[in-house]
Amino acid sequence: MEPFDLKELRIPIAQIPPAGVEIRIQTMFPGAESNRTLCFTGPVDVRCRITVLGQEYWVELTAEADGAFECDRCCAPFTRRIRGQVKTLYTREKSKSGLPDRSDIRFMAAGTNELDLSADLTDALVLALPSKRLCREDCAGLCPGCGANLNETSCGCGTRKPDPRWEALEKLKRP
Ligand SMILES: [Zn+2]
Ligand SMILES: [Zn+2]
Repeated sequence: MEPFDLKELRIPIAQIPPAGVEIRIQTMFPGAESNRTLCFTGPVDVRCRITVLGQEYWVELTAEADGAFECDRCCAPFTRRIRGQVKTLYTREKSKSGLPDRSDIRFMAAGTNELDLSADLTDALVLALPSKRLCREDCAGLCPGCGANLNETSCGCGTRKPDPRWEALEKLKRP
């Protein structure tokens, strides 16, 4: 993996034409060592439309990448294509930003001469993360008894009925 480099996502404002612009960038995201929730097996495809609204900029950013995940049930690694979009208004008017219900507004400090879209990229990817991470919909998971991967093998734990006499003993052994 190439080093973490998002500097292509800093767009010089002077280079944005009044009619707006559409940008396509391929960038690398930091590897698993630096970020455990966001990990990708390849580059992130970024598509970004910037619309000029006087002194403000309306940014629609779409990010797409092959996410590397670990299955919640069987712990097996798997990859899945994820795609997320955020829409953000970049403004120099402080009154518009920082309102709790408007997290989609970013304030540009005086003298700022570029739009830094790296936070938009992170937001788009975080929003696209699956809430349930399963290697497949019907993943059988691991056996709670012996830890065997039930997608690959049937261990027999589930079919063996516990002997009631031993069950009492098992209870005693538990802390
Ligand atoms: Zn699984
Ligand atoms: Zn088992």
